[in-house]
Amino acid sequence: MTSKPRIHILALGGTIATRPDSSGAMQMGLGADDLVAAVPLLKEVAEIAAETVSRVGSHSLSFDQIHALAAKIRSLQVDGVVVTQGTDTLEETSFLLDLLLDLEIPVIVTAAMRNPALTSPDGPGNLLAAVRVAADPWVRRNAAALGVIAVMLDEAYAASDVLKVHPTRLNAFASTQTGPLAVLVEDRVVPLALPVREAVVAARRKLAGASGKAQPVALFWMSLDDEAALMAMMLAASDRLGYRGAVIAAMGGGHVPERAVENVVRLAQAMPTVVSPRAGGGPMLRKTYGGPNAEIALREAGLIWGGRLHPLKARVLLETCLRAGLDRATIVELFDAFG
Ligand code: ASP
Repeated sequence: MTSKPRIHILALGGTIATRPDSSGAMQMGLGADDLVAAVPLLKEVAEIAAETVSRVGSHSLSFDQIHALAAKIRSLQVDGVVVTQGTDTLEETSFLLDLLLDLEIPVIVTAAMRNPALTSPDGPGNLLAAVRVAADPWVRRNAAALGVIAVMLDEAYAASDVLKVHPTRLNAFASTQTGPLAVLVEDRVVPLALPVREAVVAARRKLAGASGKAQPVALFWMSLDDEAALMAMMLAASDRLGYRGAVIAAMGGGHVPERAVENVVRLAQAMPTVVSPRAGGGPMLRKTYGGPNAEIALREAGLIWGGRLHPLKARVLLETCLRAGLDRATIVELFDAFG
Protein backbone atom coordinates (compact mmCIF):
# COMPACT_ATOMS: atom_id res chain seq x y z
CA MET A 1 0.00 0.00 0.00
CA THR A 2 1.43 3.39 -0.95
CA SER A 3 1.76 5.76 1.99
CA LYS A 4 -0.50 8.77 2.18
CA PRO A 5 0.93 12.24 1.61
CA ARG A 6 1.80 14.20 4.74
CA ILE A 7 -0.31 17.36 4.79
CA HIS A 8 0.30 20.04 7.38
CA ILE A 9 -2.68 22.24 8.30
CA LEU A 10 -1.91 25.72 9.62
CA ALA A 11 -4.92 27.50 11.14
CA LEU A 12 -4.91 31.31 11.34
CA GLY A 13 -8.52 31.97 12.40
CA GLY A 14 -11.45 33.39 10.44
CA THR A 15 -15.08 32.36 10.22
CA ILE A 16 -14.05 28.73 9.72
CA ALA A 17 -12.63 28.85 13.28
CA THR A 18 -15.40 30.72 15.07
CA ARG A 19 -17.79 29.55 17.77
CA PRO A 20 -20.74 31.29 19.42
CA ASP A 21 -20.33 33.17 22.69
CA SER A 22 -23.10 33.23 25.31
CA SER A 23 -24.97 35.93 23.37
CA GLY A 24 -24.86 33.89 20.18
CA ALA A 25 -22.33 36.20 18.50
CA MET A 26 -19.57 34.36 16.67
CA GLN A 27 -16.09 34.81 18.13
CA MET A 28 -12.70 33.44 17.16
CA GLY A 29 -12.05 30.29 19.13
CA LEU A 30 -11.45 27.04 17.26
CA GLY A 31 -7.93 25.82 16.65
CA ALA A 32 -6.48 23.51 14.01
CA ASP A 33 -7.24 20.35 16.04
CA ASP A 34 -10.93 21.33 16.25
CA LEU A 35 -11.09 21.88 12.49
CA VAL A 36 -9.51 18.50 11.82
CA ALA A 37 -11.72 16.71 14.37
CA ALA A 38 -14.81 17.94 12.51
CA VAL A 39 -13.77 16.11 9.30
CA PRO A 40 -12.99 12.43 10.04
CA LEU A 41 -12.56 11.73 6.31
CA LEU A 42 -9.33 13.75 6.24
CA LYS A 43 -7.46 10.79 7.69
CA GLU A 44 -8.39 8.68 4.68
CA VAL A 45 -6.94 11.23 2.27
CA ALA A 46 -3.69 12.15 3.98
CA GLU A 47 -1.52 11.84 7.04
CA ILE A 48 -2.59 15.01 8.81
CA ALA A 49 -0.64 17.26 11.17
CA ALA A 50 -2.44 20.33 12.51
CA GLU A 51 -1.08 23.50 14.06
CA THR A 52 -2.82 26.62 15.33
CA VAL A 53 -0.84 29.68 14.27
CA SER A 54 -3.32 32.33 15.44
CA ARG A 55 -7.00 32.89 16.15
CA VAL A 56 -7.65 36.16 14.37
CA GLY A 57 -10.07 37.36 11.73
CA SER A 58 -8.31 37.77 8.40
CA HIS A 59 -9.40 41.41 8.32
CA SER A 60 -6.80 41.94 11.08
CA LEU A 61 -3.89 39.98 9.62
CA SER A 62 -0.71 41.86 8.78
CA PHE A 63 1.94 41.60 6.08
CA ASP A 64 4.41 40.66 8.83
CA GLN A 65 2.21 37.75 9.93
CA ILE A 66 2.09 36.39 6.38
CA HIS A 67 5.88 36.74 6.07
CA ALA A 68 6.19 34.72 9.31
CA LEU A 69 3.74 32.17 7.91
CA ALA A 70 5.81 31.85 4.72
CA ALA A 71 8.93 31.24 6.84
CA LYS A 72 7.08 28.55 8.78
CA ILE A 73 5.89 26.87 5.58
CA ARG A 74 9.45 26.88 4.21
CA SER A 75 10.67 25.10 7.35
CA LEU A 76 8.16 22.23 7.15
CA GLN A 77 9.25 18.79 5.90
CA VAL A 78 5.91 17.72 4.44
CA ASP A 79 4.24 16.86 1.14
CA GLY A 80 1.72 19.69 1.19
CA VAL A 81 0.40 22.56 3.29
CA VAL A 82 -3.16 23.79 3.86
CA VAL A 83 -3.67 27.21 5.42
CA THR A 84 -7.08 28.00 6.93
CA GLN A 85 -8.00 31.63 7.50
CA GLY A 86 -10.80 34.15 7.06
CA THR A 87 -12.20 34.96 3.66
CA ASP A 88 -11.90 38.74 3.94
CA THR A 89 -8.28 39.00 2.86
CA LEU A 90 -7.72 35.59 1.29
CA GLU A 91 -7.25 37.19 -2.14
CA GLU A 92 -4.37 39.25 -0.72
CA THR A 93 -2.70 36.76 1.65
CA SER A 94 -2.68 33.93 -0.91
CA PHE A 95 -1.04 36.24 -3.48
CA LEU A 96 1.55 37.38 -0.94
CA LEU A 97 2.37 33.74 -0.14
CA ASP A 98 2.64 33.11 -3.89
CA LEU A 99 5.18 35.94 -4.18
CA LEU A 100 7.20 34.69 -1.22
CA LEU A 101 7.28 30.91 -1.61
CA ASP A 102 9.47 29.06 -4.07
CA LEU A 103 7.27 26.00 -4.12
CA GLU A 104 8.03 22.35 -4.54
CA ILE A 105 4.95 21.22 -2.66
CA PRO A 106 1.29 22.30 -2.92
CA VAL A 107 0.30 25.20 -0.69
CA ILE A 108 -3.46 25.61 -0.47
CA VAL A 109 -5.41 28.38 1.25
CA THR A 110 -9.02 27.79 2.27
CA ALA A 111 -11.69 29.37 4.46
CA ALA A 112 -15.44 29.38 5.09
CA MET A 113 -18.28 31.73 4.27
CA ARG A 114 -20.79 30.14 6.66
CA ASN A 115 -19.83 29.82 10.29
CA PRO A 116 -20.01 26.52 12.21
CA ALA A 117 -23.26 27.55 13.99
CA LEU A 118 -25.22 27.82 10.73
CA THR A 119 -27.22 24.99 9.19
CA SER A 120 -24.84 24.23 6.35
CA PRO A 121 -21.38 25.50 7.21
CA ASP A 122 -18.89 25.19 4.36
CA GLY A 123 -15.74 25.03 6.50
CA PRO A 124 -15.54 21.23 6.83
CA GLY A 125 -16.20 20.66 3.11
CA ASN A 126 -13.69 23.32 2.10
CA LEU A 127 -11.04 21.85 4.42
CA LEU A 128 -11.59 18.37 2.98
CA ALA A 129 -11.45 19.76 -0.57
CA ALA A 130 -8.26 21.69 0.23
CA VAL A 131 -6.59 18.57 1.61
CA ARG A 132 -7.75 16.57 -1.41
CA VAL A 133 -6.19 19.18 -3.69
CA ALA A 134 -2.95 19.22 -1.65
CA ALA A 135 -2.79 15.41 -1.79
CA ASP A 136 -3.72 15.07 -5.46
CA PRO A 137 -1.00 13.55 -7.70
CA TRP A 138 -1.53 16.06 -10.57
CA VAL A 139 -1.35 18.98 -8.17
CA ARG A 140 1.75 17.57 -6.45
CA ARG A 141 3.49 16.94 -9.78
CA ASN A 142 2.70 20.47 -10.95
CA ALA A 143 3.08 22.27 -7.62
CA ALA A 144 5.71 24.72 -8.89
CA ALA A 145 3.70 25.51 -12.02
CA LEU A 146 0.46 25.98 -10.08
CA GLY A 147 1.82 28.22 -7.32
CA VAL A 148 -0.29 28.91 -4.27
CA ILE A 149 -3.89 27.77 -4.77
CA ALA A 150 -7.11 28.94 -3.13
CA VAL A 151 -9.79 26.28 -2.71
CA MET A 152 -13.39 27.33 -2.08
CA LEU A 153 -16.66 25.57 -2.84
CA ASP A 154 -15.07 22.74 -4.82
CA GLU A 155 -13.02 24.96 -7.10
CA ALA A 156 -9.28 25.63 -7.11
CA TYR A 157 -8.00 29.07 -8.15
CA ALA A 158 -4.60 30.63 -8.85
CA ALA A 159 -3.60 33.00 -6.06
CA SER A 160 -2.74 35.76 -8.52
CA ASP A 161 -6.27 35.72 -9.93
CA VAL A 162 -8.65 34.72 -7.16
CA LEU A 163 -11.04 37.40 -5.93
CA LYS A 164 -13.69 37.59 -3.25
CA VAL A 165 -16.68 38.69 -5.30
CA HIS A 166 -19.52 38.53 -2.77
CA PRO A 167 -19.66 39.45 0.93
CA THR A 168 -21.89 36.62 2.18
CA ARG A 169 -22.83 33.98 -0.39
CA LEU A 170 -21.31 30.50 -0.43
CA ASN A 171 -20.04 31.06 -3.96
CA ALA A 172 -18.12 34.16 -2.95
CA PHE A 173 -14.88 33.39 -4.79
CA ALA A 174 -13.97 33.44 -8.45
CA SER A 175 -11.08 33.84 -10.84
CA THR A 176 -12.76 36.31 -13.11
CA GLN A 177 -9.90 36.49 -15.60
CA THR A 178 -8.92 32.88 -15.97
CA GLY A 179 -11.47 30.58 -14.36
CA PRO A 180 -10.58 27.73 -11.99
CA LEU A 181 -7.48 25.54 -12.29
CA ALA A 182 -9.37 22.46 -11.17
CA VAL A 183 -12.75 21.38 -9.84
CA LEU A 184 -13.63 18.72 -7.29
CA VAL A 185 -16.27 16.12 -7.88
CA GLU A 186 -17.01 13.06 -5.68
CA ASP A 187 -13.54 12.29 -4.29
CA ARG A 188 -11.64 13.47 -7.38
CA VAL A 189 -9.71 16.56 -8.33
CA VAL A 190 -10.31 17.23 -12.03
CA PRO A 191 -7.56 19.41 -13.57
CA LEU A 192 -8.65 22.14 -15.97
CA ALA A 193 -5.68 24.44 -16.56
CA LEU A 194 -2.19 25.46 -15.58
CA PRO A 195 -1.83 29.17 -14.82
CA VAL A 196 0.45 31.55 -16.74
CA ARG A 197 2.89 32.53 -14.00
CA GLU A 198 5.95 34.05 -15.67
CA ALA A 199 5.28 37.47 -14.11
CA VAL A 200 4.79 35.98 -10.62
CA VAL A 201 7.93 33.87 -10.89
CA ALA A 202 9.99 36.82 -12.19
CA ALA A 203 8.72 38.95 -9.31
CA ARG A 204 9.44 36.24 -6.76
CA ARG A 205 13.06 35.98 -7.93
CA LYS A 206 13.61 39.70 -7.40
CA LEU A 207 11.70 39.66 -4.13
CA ALA A 208 13.68 36.78 -2.62
CA GLY A 209 14.48 37.75 0.92
CA ALA A 210 11.89 40.53 1.09
CA SER A 211 12.55 40.60 4.78
CA GLY A 212 12.72 44.32 5.48
CA LYS A 213 10.20 46.12 7.60
CA ALA A 214 6.63 46.95 6.62
CA GLN A 215 6.25 49.62 3.91
CA PRO A 216 2.69 50.96 4.11
CA VAL A 217 1.03 51.43 0.71
CA ALA A 218 -2.04 53.67 0.39
CA LEU A 219 -4.93 52.66 -1.85
CA PHE A 220 -6.96 55.36 -3.61
CA TRP A 221 -10.14 54.38 -5.44
CA MET A 222 -10.98 56.84 -8.24
CA SER A 223 -14.65 57.72 -8.47
CA LEU A 224 -17.05 60.08 -10.21
CA ASP A 225 -16.18 63.75 -9.73
CA ASP A 226 -13.34 63.08 -7.28
CA GLU A 227 -10.43 65.54 -7.26
CA ALA A 228 -8.38 63.28 -5.00
CA ALA A 229 -7.94 65.87 -2.26
CA LEU A 230 -6.98 63.06 0.13
CA MET A 231 -3.79 62.57 -1.88
CA ALA A 232 -2.89 66.22 -1.39
CA MET A 233 -3.60 65.98 2.34
CA MET A 234 -1.42 62.91 2.63
CA LEU A 235 1.46 64.59 0.77
CA ALA A 236 1.18 67.65 3.03
CA ALA A 237 1.13 65.60 6.23
CA SER A 238 4.18 64.93 8.32
CA ASP A 239 6.13 61.96 6.91
CA ARG A 240 3.23 61.48 4.44
CA LEU A 241 1.34 59.67 7.19
CA GLY A 242 3.94 56.91 7.00
CA TYR A 243 3.01 55.80 3.48
CA ARG A 244 5.88 54.74 1.22
CA GLY A 245 3.93 53.92 -1.93
CA ALA A 246 0.44 54.15 -3.39
CA VAL A 247 -1.94 52.29 -5.64
CA ILE A 248 -4.58 54.14 -7.63
CA ALA A 249 -7.59 52.06 -8.67
CA ALA A 250 -8.23 53.87 -11.93
CA MET A 251 -11.27 54.08 -14.13
CA GLY A 252 -11.56 52.13 -17.36
CA GLY A 253 -8.30 51.33 -19.12
CA GLY A 254 -6.26 53.55 -16.76
CA HIS A 255 -7.99 56.92 -16.40
CA VAL A 256 -8.59 59.40 -13.59
CA PRO A 257 -10.92 62.41 -13.49
CA GLU A 258 -9.25 65.44 -15.10
CA ARG A 259 -9.67 67.40 -11.90
CA ALA A 260 -7.63 64.74 -10.03
CA VAL A 261 -4.67 64.80 -12.41
CA GLU A 262 -2.63 67.39 -10.54
CA ASN A 263 -2.80 65.44 -7.28
CA VAL A 264 -2.22 62.12 -9.00
CA VAL A 265 0.94 63.40 -10.72
CA ARG A 266 2.23 64.98 -7.49
CA LEU A 267 1.70 61.66 -5.76
CA ALA A 268 3.67 59.82 -8.44
CA GLN A 269 6.51 62.31 -8.05
CA ALA A 270 6.56 61.77 -4.28
CA MET A 271 6.46 57.97 -4.08
CA PRO A 272 6.13 54.88 -6.31
CA THR A 273 2.51 55.00 -7.46
CA VAL A 274 0.92 52.11 -9.32
CA VAL A 275 -2.19 52.44 -11.48
CA SER A 276 -4.44 49.41 -11.50
CA PRO A 277 -7.95 48.86 -12.94
CA ARG A 278 -10.85 49.54 -10.59
CA ALA A 279 -12.87 47.25 -12.88
CA GLY A 280 -11.21 44.45 -10.90
CA GLY A 281 -8.26 43.33 -12.96
CA GLY A 282 -7.50 42.85 -16.62
CA PRO A 283 -4.83 44.49 -18.77
CA MET A 284 -5.10 48.27 -19.11
CA LEU A 285 -4.61 50.48 -22.11
CA ARG A 286 -1.17 51.92 -22.83
CA LYS A 287 -1.50 54.04 -25.96
CA THR A 288 -5.11 54.75 -26.91
CA TYR A 289 -6.40 57.93 -25.24
CA GLY A 290 -4.89 61.39 -25.25
CA GLY A 291 -5.44 64.03 -22.57
CA PRO A 292 -3.71 64.59 -19.24
CA ASN A 293 -5.95 62.13 -17.39
CA ALA A 294 -5.37 59.09 -19.60
CA GLU A 295 -2.77 56.37 -20.05
CA ILE A 296 -0.31 58.09 -22.43
CA ALA A 297 0.14 61.22 -20.32
CA LEU A 298 -0.07 59.43 -16.96
CA ARG A 299 2.62 56.96 -17.96
CA GLU A 300 4.82 59.82 -19.17
CA ALA A 301 4.23 61.56 -15.85
CA GLY A 302 5.72 58.61 -13.98
CA LEU A 303 2.72 56.53 -12.97
CA ILE A 304 3.64 52.84 -12.85
CA TRP A 305 1.30 50.68 -14.93
CA GLY A 306 0.05 47.76 -12.84
CA GLY A 307 -0.92 45.40 -15.65
CA ARG A 308 -3.76 42.97 -15.15
CA LEU A 309 -3.48 42.82 -11.36
CA HIS A 310 -6.50 43.76 -9.27
CA PRO A 311 -5.74 46.88 -7.16
CA LEU A 312 -5.60 44.78 -3.97
CA LYS A 313 -3.04 42.47 -5.51
CA ALA A 314 -1.09 45.41 -6.98
CA ARG A 315 -0.90 46.82 -3.45
CA VAL A 316 0.47 43.50 -2.13
CA LEU A 317 3.13 43.41 -4.86
CA LEU A 318 4.14 47.06 -4.32
CA GLU A 319 4.47 46.60 -0.54
CA THR A 320 6.64 43.56 -1.12
CA CYS A 321 8.81 45.38 -3.69
CA LEU A 322 9.36 48.26 -1.28
CA ARG A 323 10.08 45.90 1.59
CA ALA A 324 12.69 44.19 -0.60
CA GLY A 325 14.28 47.58 -1.28
CA LEU A 326 13.85 47.31 -5.08
CA ASP A 327 14.62 50.39 -7.12
CA ARG A 328 12.02 52.14 -9.21
CA ALA A 329 13.20 50.69 -12.54
CA THR A 330 12.89 47.14 -11.21
CA ILE A 331 9.44 47.86 -9.77
CA VAL A 332 8.32 49.17 -13.17
CA GLU A 333 9.71 46.07 -14.87
CA LEU A 334 7.96 43.68 -12.46
CA PHE A 335 4.56 45.32 -12.88
CA ASP A 336 5.05 45.60 -16.62
CA ALA A 337 5.32 41.82 -16.88
CA PHE A 338 1.71 41.57 -15.71
CA GLY A 339 0.50 42.84 -19.07
N1 ASP B 1 -14.29 38.42 8.92
C1 ASP B 1 -13.99 37.03 8.63
C2 ASP B 1 -12.52 36.87 8.36
O1 ASP B 1 -12.04 37.19 7.31
C3 ASP B 1 -14.82 36.58 7.50
C4 ASP B 1 -14.60 35.19 7.06
O2 ASP B 1 -13.79 34.43 7.52
O3 ASP B 1 -15.34 34.82 6.14
O4 ASP B 1 -11.83 36.41 9.20
